Amino acid sequence: MTARFALVALPLPLATPYTYRIPEALGDRVAAGARVVVPVRRRELIGVVVRLDSEPPSQNLKEILAVPDPEPALSPALLATAEWMAGYYGAPLGLTLKSVLPAGMWGESQVIVSLRNGSHSFGGLAGEVVAWLEQRGGESPVQTAARAFHRPLWEVVERLSRVQAVTLRVQPPDTDAARLTERTLALAGERPTLIERNAWFKRRPRQRQLYEALESLGGRASMRHLSEQLGFTDAVVRGLIKSGLARAGEAELVRDPFAGSPTVSPPPTLTPDQETALTQVEALPGGAGALLFGVTGSGKTLVYLAAVRRVLERGQGAIVLVPEIGLTPQTVSRFRGAFGDNVAVLHSGLSDGERADAWRLLRRGDRRVAVGARSAVFAPVSNLGLIVIDEEHEASYKNGETPRYHTRDVAAVRARLEGARLLLGSATPSLETVARTESELGLLRLPERIGSRPMPPVEMVDLRAAPKVEGTGPVAWSVALDSAITSTLARGEQALLLLNRRGYAAFLQCPDCGEVWQCPRCSISLTVHQTPAALRCHYCGHEEPLPFTCRVCANPVQQMRGVGTQQLERMLVERYPDARIARMDLDTTSTKWSHQRILAAVEKGDIDLLIGTQMIAKGLDFPNVTLVGVVDADTGLYLPDFRSAERTFQLLAQVAGRAGRGAKGGRVLVQTRHPGHHALVRAAQHDAVGFLDEERALREVPPYPPAVHLVNLLYSGSDEREVGRKAAGLADWCNSLVARYQLPISVLGPAPCPLVRIKDRWRWHVLLKGPSTALGRVVRYAARRLKREGNVRLVIDRDPVSLL
Ligand code: ADP
Ligand code: ZN
Repeated sequence: MTARFALVALPLPLATPYTYRIPEALGDRVAAGARVVVPVRRRELIGVVVRLDSEPPSQNLKEILAVPDPEPALSPALLATAEWMAGYYGAPLGLTLKSVLPAGMWGESQVIVSLRNGSHSFGGLAGEVVAWLEQRGGESPVQTAARAFHRPLWEVVERLSRVQAVTLRVQPPDTDAARLTERTLALAGERPTLIERNAWFKRRPRQRQLYEALESLGGRASMRHLSEQLGFTDAVVRGLIKSGLARAGEAELVRDPFAGSPTVSPPPTLTPDQETALTQVEALPGGAGALLFGVTGSGKTLVYLAAVRRVLERGQGAIVLVPEIGLTPQTVSRFRGAFGDNVAVLHSGLSDGERADAWRLLRRGDRRVAVGARSAVFAPVSNLGLIVIDEEHEASYKNGETPRYHTRDVAAVRARLEGARLLLGSATPSLETVARTESELGLLRLPERIGSRPMPPVEMVDLRAAPKVEGTGPVAWSVALDSAITSTLARGEQALLLLNRRGYAAFLQCPDCGEVWQCPRCSISLTVHQTPAALRCHYCGHEEPLPFTCRVCANPVQQMRGVGTQQLERMLVERYPDARIARMDLDTTSTKWSHQRILAAVEKGDIDLLIGTQMIAKGLDFPNVTLVGVVDADTGLYLPDFRSAERTFQLLAQVAGRAGRGAKGGRVLVQTRHPGHHALVRAAQHDAVGFLDEERALREVPPYPPAVHLVNLLYSGSDEREVGRKAAGLADWCNSLVARYQLPISVLGPAPCPLVRIKDRWRWHVLLKGPSTALGRVVRYAARRLKREGNVRLVIDRDPVSLL
């Protein structure tokens, strides 16, 4: 029985595959995974064949117009991975394929037809098309040609392609033309002392803000960022330039910061521990995985490099996943240093065209190593031998929209399908992964830092009792941290200061009546920002001016609570006027590659104090950083989420691991009001195993992962009552399903989510706990309810990383 029909997925919202008839002439080339041109509502779009069929679901089917690729774009293994995802996460296959295949590779993309060399003599329409192409320099989008001829040309083009007179290729729709340079503003001249600053800026508060913004951006910023993101006017910029404190310039606009970035050659020899780990990786059977559990600074990256090298020597390829490509320039440089042009770095700065090129090179095996964040797990590396996931515990490996996949689990499925090995690395592995080392995952240890360097001593500073420095305003600043910074600066060394709260202050409160400014659209308080001054919602972006009086009782004084990075920075600038300070958080890194700029300045020694949110905790290897200060360890400790202790431990252990990586050693100071909390105590002792044991016991009662699996079913909508009613109906439905099939699942809720409203949408959820297989059945049934009911939406979040 031959297939005469094909189910074709398209990158349209909630698209279920459409069925098309396969014309005789294309028959042999329409295969699962192939890209095809199909008519969709008077347009022609590029879709992907997901399945072949011999029975038509109905009469009157449209025909596939063309098959532009010589080989299917999606390998059978990638297609099977996508099908697994659709089933496991309860997501439509069309939507799932949207995360597998980059935009620009299908949908609106165009098919370009080019003449091949050689003489062509065709009669009729084919001859006319060839002549027309010759006039146009040999190539054209098929649709342009069709418009010129006032008729469809697919049949002719396919015929010409079959006799090798033309080639077809898929090209993303035009991306915007490259701008090559951008205007910048940089600090100039001597840095004014605090007294000079106060005198000069007294009547120029906006100039002071601009000056300080430049300081926090590492000394230089693009004019566009300053005006568009931070709201500085031309007049303020001109004023600062006239005063000689800043200077305008031009800089090359970075398109691919990895193309010209320095590459780092790896150390030539493995330590005995690294050697053992490598041997164990090599000994894994194909399709199996292992956790590389190594303390910070133990040289995990070199094990990844060596394992990838072995894979390449066998003629296979590898995928290396990092949490966020912008935050891990050092890891990327190490891979490029080791494998040069064999590496395709997949990052968000790529244009659609560049991404499509990278795909083609990987698919053809012209490049064998793909390095990238989450979505690089779908890189079409051919003959895949290894998938590495660095910092496997990071929350960014979970996709935030449908399909809500976890990269770790997708990678395991893909590795199994392709017989590749999976290597997960972390100093602070997730509880789930550690639990799996008792069954399917191998466990490899790197117990020591390179060169037997000691782990940095961590000192806890109990803010309730410790002596504090006067005159630091609302910033609780211990004498201990203050003198540690002073002496680090005096020795010409660098310090990192972690404060995981961006903005100026967490919220604004009236000291008289207690009113707290909340977002009108979300159930969360507004964050106070300076530069530019505003109250801002970190969930929906709502912004309003800072109020002068309380809106409830008209009290003229408003108090800011909860110090943020901006306020900390202002305090530090006054406290350590000679220090060169930079700040790294979402507000200073909203333009592309601003991370790299700041990190490069730290690496070059142009920055003495780097303040930042959790961004500065990840993967950095700066030997001159000898002090890490945690300004407030308690910011995430008591969030209403089962992972808050785990996240706090990981953050502290990771940031502590940034200290003392060089010969000069280092130390860590942690300011807290909860010095006895197990996450802090274990982080201070560098005792990941102890933390994991203790935390795992706490996850037994009430049960949370890894003791059980979770599915979070979340309804949202603009009418609170309706959402609540729907959620109640869902809980009833879950309960009856559980009773009918006697599933070992407990149904919790319905309950309002801890963040009960985001962006004007009310949120209620039903939480299911149980073994994975039983939950899978509920997910399958629930997926059928996914139809949007009015304005109420259901989200299925299997294995959620957070329950907020
Ligand atoms: P991790 O990722 O485990 O925190 P890294 O891979 O960043 O650790 O390694 C820490 C430091 O040790 C890096 O500067 C790296 O170049 C160095 N290093 C790693 N392996 C070796 C080795 N075999 N010999 C010498 N130096 C090494
Ligand atoms: Zn909001």
